[in-house]
This record gives sequence, C-alpha cells and structure tokens, in this order.
Amino acid sequence: MKIPAAITSIVLATTAQTARCFTSNLKFSKSTALNVEKKDSYSITVLPGDGIGPEITESTKEVLNALCERCDFKIEMTDALMGGCAIDEANDPFPQESLDQCRKSDSVLLACIGGYKWDNNPRELRPETGLLKMRKEMGLFANLRPAKTIPQLMDASSIKPEVLEGVDIMIVRELTGDVYFGEPKGIDVIDGERVGYNNMIYKESEIRRIAKVAADVASKRGGQLCSVDKANVLDVSQLWRDVVIEVCEKEYPNVELSHMYVDNAAMQLVRWPKQFDTMVTGNIFGDILSDQASMLVGSLGMLPSASLGEPGTPGVFEPIHGSAPDIAGTDKANPLAMILSAAMMLRYDLSRPDEGALLEAAVEKVLDDGFRTADIKTDDDGCTLLGCKEMGKKIVEIVKTLPIPQPVLA
Ligand code: NAD
Repeated sequence: MKIPAAITSIVLATTAQTARCFTSNLKFSKSTALNVEKKDSYSITVLPGDGIGPEITESTKEVLNALCERCDFKIEMTDALMGGCAIDEANDPFPQESLDQCRKSDSVLLACIGGYKWDNNPRELRPETGLLKMRKEMGLFANLRPAKTIPQLMDASSIKPEVLEGVDIMIVRELTGDVYFGEPKGIDVIDGERVGYNNMIYKESEIRRIAKVAADVASKRGGQLCSVDKANVLDVSQLWRDVVIEVCEKEYPNVELSHMYVDNAAMQLVRWPKQFDTMVTGNIFGDILSDQASMLVGSLGMLPSASLGEPGTPGVFEPIHGSAPDIAGTDKANPLAMILSAAMMLRYDLSRPDEGALLEAAVEKVLDDGFRTADIKTDDDGCTLLGCKEMGKKIVEIVKTLPIPQPVLA
C-alpha cells in the first residue's frame, strides 16, 4: 500500500521561521507531493458543530479570509451539518448531504460536536456516532496528533517544566478499527441479566497500513517508533505486535522499533515524555493516550489534529477538544487549536505549506505578544486576557503583516 501523500508531506514539513511550530519540527521540500495540487482556488467544507464550535469557526473563517487576501488565493467555504445540530435539523448526526459535501471538497475543517442535550439519546442519534460514521465513510484511518510543548505556555501545564522541556511527540492512532467498530456488539440479556459487549478486533491489513504510516512518520522524525499494545493479555494485541515487527523489519529497517504495554505507556507519558518520538497504537488506546499527551502541552485549546485517508481523498482537520458546553456562548473559547488545524489543512491537504506556516507563526506571535484566552492564562503571567472574538481578530491583524515564511528545501 502506498503511504498517503498527505502523510508523507506531514513528516516533511516545516520552515525555518517556525522552528517552534506546533505541528512538527521537520523539514519540508517544495517538491513533496501533497494531497491536492496547489491551486488558486479551493473548496472546503466547514463543520461548525456544537457548543463553542460556531464561535471558534467564525474566528477561523475570518483568519482564513485574511490569509487568502494576503496571499492572493481563494478558499470557498461551505458549511454543513454535523453533530447535535444535525440531529436537531435532520435527525441524523452526519446526514448524507453533509457526507456528499465533504467528499466533493478539497478538504474538511471540523470544529467540535456534542453536548449535554444529546447525551441521553439512543446511540444512533448521538453526536459521536456522526464522527465515527464520518471516519468510516471517508476512510480516515490515520489520526496524527502532535504533542509538542509550547515554551510560552509551560506554566499552563500541571507537570514540572524540566519534564516538559523539549517534548515533541507524534501519536499515530488507528482510527477506523478496534473495539469502536468491531462486531458483534450490543447489550443482551443472558441468564436473566444484561450483558454489554464489544469486540476488539483488527485485521492484519488494517494493522499493516497504520504501521507503515507510523514507520514512515518516524523515519522522517527522530527515527524511533514505540508501538503500544496490551500483548501480555490480548490476542488482538499479539497480532498487532507481530505485524508491526514484520512491517518495520522488512520495510523500515532504519526505524528503531520498541514496544510498550499501554498501562506502562500511560505512566511513562507523564513520568518522562521526552523518551518518545513517534508512537503508534490502536483506536481505543490512542484515544486515551493522545488526550493524556495533550495535557503535556497544557490546554486542549491549543492542539490541532489531522485525520487522513488514502491519497487523493479529503482529510479532516479538527482541534482535539470537545464542544466545551460549559463555556459555550460566553466568548471564552480559545480558537487557536482550530486555527492551527486550518494551518495543518493548508500544509497537508491544500499544498499551501507556506501559508500554513504563516498561520502557525501568527499563533506564535500572539503568544509572544502576551495575549491569552482564559484556558491558557495564569494569574501572575502578566498577559492580557482576550475573548474568542478578540483573539481571532489579533490573529487576523498579525496575518496581515507577518512576512510569509519561506520553505527550506530539504
Ligand atoms: P471538552 O474538550 O469539550 O472540554 C473539556 C474542558 O476543556 C472544559 O472545561 C472546556 O471548557 C475546556 N475546553 C475545551 N476546549 C476549549 C477551548 N477551545 N477553549 C477553552 N476551553 C476549552 O470535553 P468534554 O467536556 O469531555 O466534552 C464536551 C462534549 O464534547 C461532549 O459532548 C463530548 O462528547 C464532546 N466531544 C467532542 C469531541 C469532538 O468534537 N471531536 C471531542 C471530545 C469530546
């Protein structure tokens, strides 16, 4: 199987001007094939979703519009329904119309979905079901989540600075298999009591394709890949481990492969996270570990992610946080993770790495200039507190004036 072009580009991307960029610390070459050819005009689908979603989407759209004006290209943004809002309007968390719209786009930008209102709905009418459907229907099998500490926000983390300094981890999570999709599943009555069950299951081919992606990512980062499983207990994990070893031995002999049980990995991530370069794991372990790793950075509001499928298909770019219903509608949301997700989209899906780097540099600058939303502000940091709208506007101002970073040819 060919490694998705967008992934190849991920591990090759960075610029001198964004040496501390949020998504990777790697070099990129302008000749690297990206998912969509560089064009003057793109069409993307935007899924504002629920809770703080519409607020951070508004700011992100303003930033993208300013960027287009600055760099002389167009992004046509079409909104579509997903999540709780889609359940309310169409009785479906990811209606066919939205799926069709996503499929015909160059790329997809998703804010966040969910909320208390839909928490007690039957499973098929829960917002998360739409997310799972989207991943499955769009073949988004690889989720890449960077966890790189941001020097300006070290204080926002509950972990000691000496543990955090220099942490730069890429977690590659399998996204379309495992216990979330395995059959049989359900709740039955057996011997007079209810029994709930799901099936943790991976086909060899599913493990192989994610192992290749992860090994490829690792080969272009620090060359170290840690595969996380529970092979001491689970048969499915034993197969996972065997296939990952086969892939690395045969195709990536230069990648230093190690294995770790998931419980130990959870502990090591907070004990000494610097030991990790690239990690690869299945869907449920990756779900938990990537959230844990996000706390190394300090706030959910700062972390983007990319979900990618086969070459030529649109990826989905989204902040890792949820819909934050506790602060929805109060203008307290941090839009930076969604803005950084847009940067990843530009870089990896739209063949606009320079423009992506410009957005990343703008986020760096706003932090350097001492502006913070509530989630990343501490009492004694001397920084200025901004709401979501103001933070978006600050980024717009910076985008209008920052020099466009130039690529470093590898
Ligand atoms: P959450 O990420 O929404 O919120 C956790 C905490 O972080 C909250 O205190 C929230 O205020 C804060 N927070 C999150 N994003 C923030 C931002 N951008 N700016 C400032 N503060 C931010 O997680 P949760 O509370 O467990 O879940 C809320 C809802 O979101 C649930 O319905 C859940 O199912 C859904 N969810 C959706 C996604 C997604 O859309 N991919 C991911 C996780 C959770």
